[in-house]
Amino acid sequence: MKNILKWVRPNISKLKPYASARDEFKGEANVFLDANENPFDRDGLNRYPDPLAIAVKEKLAILRGVPVEQIFLGNGSDEAIDVLMRIFCEPKKDAVLVLPPTYGMYQVSADINNVAVRAVCLTPDFQPDTEGVLEMADKNTKILFLCSPNNPSANSFEVAKMRYLIEKFEGIVVVDEAYIDFSASESAVQWLTAYPNLVVMQTFSKAWGLAGIRLGMAFASPEIIALMNKVKPPYNVNALTQQRALKSLEKPKKIQKEVAKIIEERQKMILKLQALPIVAHIYPSDANFILVKMAQNATDIYKKLLEKGIVVRNRATVTLCGDCLRITIGKPKENKALVLAFVEFGEKGIEKED
Ligand SMILES: *Cc1c(COP(=O)(O)O)cnc(C)c1O
Repeated sequence: MKNILKWVRPNISKLKPYASARDEFKGEANVFLDANENPFDRDGLNRYPDPLAIAVKEKLAILRGVPVEQIFLGNGSDEAIDVLMRIFCEPKKDAVLVLPPTYGMYQVSADINNVAVRAVCLTPDFQPDTEGVLEMADKNTKILFLCSPNNPSANSFEVAKMRYLIEKFEGIVVVDEAYIDFSASESAVQWLTAYPNLVVMQTFSKAWGLAGIRLGMAFASPEIIALMNKVKPPYNVNALTQQRALKSLEKPKKIQKEVAKIIEERQKMILKLQALPIVAHIYPSDANFILVKMAQNATDIYKKLLEKGIVVRNRATVTLCGDCLRITIGKPKENKALVLAFVEFGEKGIEKED
């Protein structure tokens, strides 16, 4: 078994965390004079929230089959990424490893923390080059980010490749599962008992339809979660977010139905778009978006779409994504508008007028 504690920055190992009023007192009481709050009620919002959002975690624990002490909640997944870097990566000394084309936040978070980023490109079918990754890693490479399903390519990585990397990589492996609910492949959450160096990230921003509340989850060994809770700001998940998440967690069936609809719509979009000459290729999708290689200049098409008030993500300048647009699956009416625009561009051409 790997001992993850040896990879922790010394200042974090030694850190004595801030003990909030709500941390120190956990029993039953009805007179709260400990936190300098305003005593006049505002739907309970005059009180500080639960620093560990235990009620939310208890619901998640049942839903995902993971004990509460193996769940971290943050202000979006972005906070989980940042907290992990601050636990394991010594600025100007350590590095993280990413597999482009991938989610941009790993790089940004590393840049903010003054942590080097090493990159090993995915293979042309958007799978990890496992031997390349292991060759690139050295003793200062503390975190490996695997995004599966991957943004922007939309595919899942092969399970065998991911497990091989988690086993062989001498550091923390983060599997970012922001899109797992749209995927047919198994979640890495099931592997947690086997790998103490594994962190699985999920989010309320995509399938759960709650990007606005900013709530991200990380599942990992109790040792890693304890470190994350020690480093995070004391009240990082606010009371409104906790309330809204709880409400949503009571109705997981509703989310499953929406996800099924989005997957159905994704299949329809693939069939419709594939038939258009303006589309060169659609990559396999396990997410709520598709990566589409255009038969003409993608940036010109992107601009023409904007003129019609349709925004997609231009990925034309990204590694392995030449002339690609990333298109989110929307409501049927929105998807139709995009197909119609592509049909029109095909008929009229998209020559730039000067
Ligand atoms: C959208 C997305 C997230 C979500 O980030 P939040 O901060 O939770 O909104 C995480 N990872 C990837 C790869 C994403 O595409």
